[in-house]
Amino acid sequence: MPNTILVGAQWGDEGKGKVIDVLTAQADVIVRYQGGSNAGHTVITGGRKYVLHLIPSGILHAGKQCVIGNGVVLDPFDLLREIEMLRGYDIEPAGRLLISSRAHMVMRWHRALDAADEARRASDRKIGTTGRGIGPAYGAKMGRRGLRIGDLLGDGFLDAVREATRETNETLAAWGAPTLCEEELVADYRAAAEALRPYIADTVATVNAADRAGKSILLEGAQGTMLDIDFGTYPFVTSSNPTAGGACTGTGLSPRRIDRVVGVIKCYTTRVGAGPFPTELADATGEHLRQKGGEFGATTGRPRRCGWFDAVVGRYAAMVNGVDFWAMTKLDVLDEQPTLKICTAYLRDDGVRYETFPSDLGVLSRCTPVYEEMPGWLTPTSAITRYDDLPVKARAYVERLVELIGGRLGILSVGPARETTLRLGL
Ligand code: GDP
Repeated sequence: MPNTILVGAQWGDEGKGKVIDVLTAQADVIVRYQGGSNAGHTVITGGRKYVLHLIPSGILHAGKQCVIGNGVVLDPFDLLREIEMLRGYDIEPAGRLLISSRAHMVMRWHRALDAADEARRASDRKIGTTGRGIGPAYGAKMGRRGLRIGDLLGDGFLDAVREATRETNETLAAWGAPTLCEEELVADYRAAAEALRPYIADTVATVNAADRAGKSILLEGAQGTMLDIDFGTYPFVTSSNPTAGGACTGTGLSPRRIDRVVGVIKCYTTRVGAGPFPTELADATGEHLRQKGGEFGATTGRPRRCGWFDAVVGRYAAMVNGVDFWAMTKLDVLDEQPTLKICTAYLRDDGVRYETFPSDLGVLSRCTPVYEEMPGWLTPTSAITRYDDLPVKARAYVERLVELIGGRLGILSVGPARETTLRLGL
C-alpha cells in the first residue's frame, strides 16, 4: 500500500476507526499523529467492540507495528489503562507499540486546569472540551513549558512534577477549584515512568527507517478538519492539526514521502460540543439520525448534534487536505429517509453566496444553507456487499455527494462491522 494519510473531513466521529481498521490490513506501520485521549476510535470485529483513545487500532491486527507519534499529547495513565484493556483481550502491545520520546504529556495538572477553566466560563463561552487536559497540554507545549514522554526517564522529572503541582495549586485555589496532592502525583508518575519505559523510542528514526525499507505507512489522524486549530471553526476546535499537514509535523515523515490522502466523511453531518453547525437538524429527523447512527460520543457518551450532508464542508476538506479518495460512511443510517437534503452552498442574509467555508464565525452566523433535495431509497443497505447491488437512488445520492466535493470514492461503509464495507479501489 502507498504511504497514506487518513483524515476526518467533518467535525470528527466520521467512522475513521473502522476505515483505519480496514486499511490496516494492507499497511505495515500505523502511526497516530495528533490529538490525545479526547478522541475515540470504535472498531467492531469478531463480534467484539473495541474503543481505543490513544493506541492506533492497528494493534488489533497481529504483527502490525503501531506508533504514537510526536504530535500526540498523551496522559501516561490513560495509555497504561488502554494497554491493560488490550491485555484483557489477550492482545499484547509490548514489542509492537512505540511511543515517541518527543510526544508531550498531558499531566494531571493539565486536566485539573482544563476542568476548572471550563467550569468557570459563562455558559455561552464554554468550548465544550472533553475536560481531559488536551488544551492545556498543547498550551504548555507551545509555551515551551511542557514535559515530553522522554522526560519521564530523565533525572529531574520528579522535581518538575513537584514544582508544577505547587504552581498549579495556586491557580486552582484562586479559582476556587480542588487542589492536587503533590506526594500522590510524584508516586504515580514514578510508577508510570517504569511501566512505560519499554515503549519509549525515537520514533522519527523508526518511521523513516521503515519507509526506507519499503514498508507501507498509514498515518492516522483523530478528530476532523473542521476541528483543526488553524482551519476549523476557531475557537470551537481542538488544540492540534488533524488535517493532512499535521501528519508530517506529527510524525517526522516528510511530505515528499506521502503518496495519497484518504478523507473519511459521513453521508450526513454530526458535531459534538459547542460551535457553528450550519446544517444542524434540531427536529425529529435529527433525532432519528442520532438514534439510528448511534451518535453518542465514544469518549464522553455525549449526544452528537446531527444534520444534513454539507458539501461546503466536504469541498473545504478536500482542498485543505488534498483528498484523493473518500471513504464515505454510515450510508445505512439514511435508509429510512423519504427525502434527503444536501447543502451545496451558504447564503448570507444580504444575498452573498458562499461556496467555500467562511473563516469568520460572524459571517457564518448570518448564513443559511442552500439545499437541493434527492429522493431516499427506503431500503435496508447494511446487508449489501457490492456497490452495484445498492438501490439506484442510494448510488445516485452517493455519486452526487462525490460530484459536489470532488475526488474519488474509495470505500463506502454501510454498517458498523468490518464486513459491511464496500471497496471501490481502496
Ligand atoms: P471516529 O472517531 O471517526 O473513529 O468515529 P467513531 O468510532 O467515534 O464513530 C463511528 C461510529 O460509527 C462507531 O460506533 C462505528 O462502529 C460506527 N460506524 C462506522 N461506520 C459505520 C457505518 O457505515 N454504518 C453504521 N451504522 N455505523 C458505522
